Amino acid sequence: MADIADSVLVAGARVAGTACAEVLLERGAAVTVYDRDDSERLRALAARGARTAHGEFDPALLAGIGQVLLSPGFPPHHPVAEAAREAGIETYSEPELAWRLRGPGAARWFAVTGTNGKTTTTTMLAAMLAAGGLRTAALGNIGVPLVSAVTGQAVTGHSATDHAATGPYDAIAVELSSYQLHWSSTLAPDAGAVLNLAPDHLDWHGSFDAYAEAKSAVWRGGRAVVNLDDPAVVALAKHTDAHVTGFTLNQPEPGQFGVALGYLVDHTGETPVQICSVDLVRPAGWHNVANALAAAALAREAGVSHADIAEAIRTYTPEPHRNVAFAEHAGVTWVDDSKATNPHAAAAALAAYDSIVWVAGGQLKGVDVDGLVAEYAHKLRAAVLIGQDRTEVADALARHAPDLPVAVLDGGDDAVMTDVAARAAQFALPGDTVLLSPAAASYDMFRSYAHRGDAFAAAVRELLGEDDG
Ligand code: ADP
Repeated sequence: MADIADSVLVAGARVAGTACAEVLLERGAAVTVYDRDDSERLRALAARGARTAHGEFDPALLAGIGQVLLSPGFPPHHPVAEAAREAGIETYSEPELAWRLRGPGAARWFAVTGTNGKTTTTTMLAAMLAAGGLRTAALGNIGVPLVSAVTGQAVTGHSATDHAATGPYDAIAVELSSYQLHWSSTLAPDAGAVLNLAPDHLDWHGSFDAYAEAKSAVWRGGRAVVNLDDPAVVALAKHTDAHVTGFTLNQPEPGQFGVALGYLVDHTGETPVQICSVDLVRPAGWHNVANALAAAALAREAGVSHADIAEAIRTYTPEPHRNVAFAEHAGVTWVDDSKATNPHAAAAALAAYDSIVWVAGGQLKGVDVDGLVAEYAHKLRAAVLIGQDRTEVADALARHAPDLPVAVLDGGDDAVMTDVAARAAQFALPGDTVLLSPAAASYDMFRSYAHRGDAFAAAVRELLGEDDG
């Protein structure tokens, strides 16, 4: 097992960084915590014995440091990462630390990565593992920090009702981002799925190839679940030595999971097994059928029966802000898909409705929206655009749908949602769907995608004269 150094610098003092620092302090390591901003969290860590620093990063902080733990906000070109590289200091992420610290008899890891669908698939998988009688949790950007859950460490600021707070576990469903996988070297889940690959986070990784390469680390353990319908995933899988189980929305060949006659089917055994009807999959939409197939393939790796997998699909409760219809008024349906933080995710939602008033915009993160707009412009009744990169979306609409009514709103905080709701209501006709599916990140105007979705839903409810909730 790879070691943990005696002296570790933790870069970033938000949720994951704080959890890492707490776990390391508990183990008696000398911990330095650096964050650009001073915060309550940083001061609390200092009170617990960490050396802390904020402001401009000073490379002198690396003197005597054995390893650097990087939070997701630290791309490879960040001064901390560069200084560590120059000094020859090993760098890694929170899941890698969790992997290194997992105790003897530790839970098996079943991991999920991809551009979109990670949380949905991970929570579906946890439901399947639980249905199979395994002690489990959905972890990794979900509930308590992975490192705290895996080490059984109490977490400040999380109640015991958070999923996963209570271990021990037999098998865990772990969501892993490209950032976390990039900063990993020994983490090797029992099986790992790559759901899809579309341009995202290019400013962080530097290129699409680097982004894809990072994701393939989820197969390091030797068992790969691969989306056969996504050419970029298939191309990536050509380079893996892992045993591959493919999934497809088409009829599965032997060795694959797929769909036949309206059923999810496992054809990895001698004869195909029908798991359950496609109609049972929630949230609705073909992308979620793909997610369910990936989760089922991982659950089979964990030994869960087909009947238990079917039961989990039947009773699965979708996560919020993912294609949720929350209001219906005068024949218009209002949908919150705030979690669509890139064009690939927005495409899944735009594909699902016929006549759409599209609410979009935010931070595009260096990703081009032109292809998305070209493909779905014909379904749009109108568009309402917000956020930092709203003009880029407006320009794409002008190219592909020059006659489309478009409202470009300038407000820079969540009050803008009141205008969004009003403009969208003016545009919408009976039978239309008003769809918040921004294709962009929210941090220019909101604390998170959840905050953005909640602000939208609250503004719509107020406009429609409904009580909150
Ligand atoms: P992640 O954790 O990868 O961000 P989520 O499950 O939270 O994924 O879903 C993010 C967004 O992507 C939502 O808008 C959702 O509707 C959409 N989505 C979910 N699964 C897929 C998929 N397989 N392909 C494309 N979009 C998807």
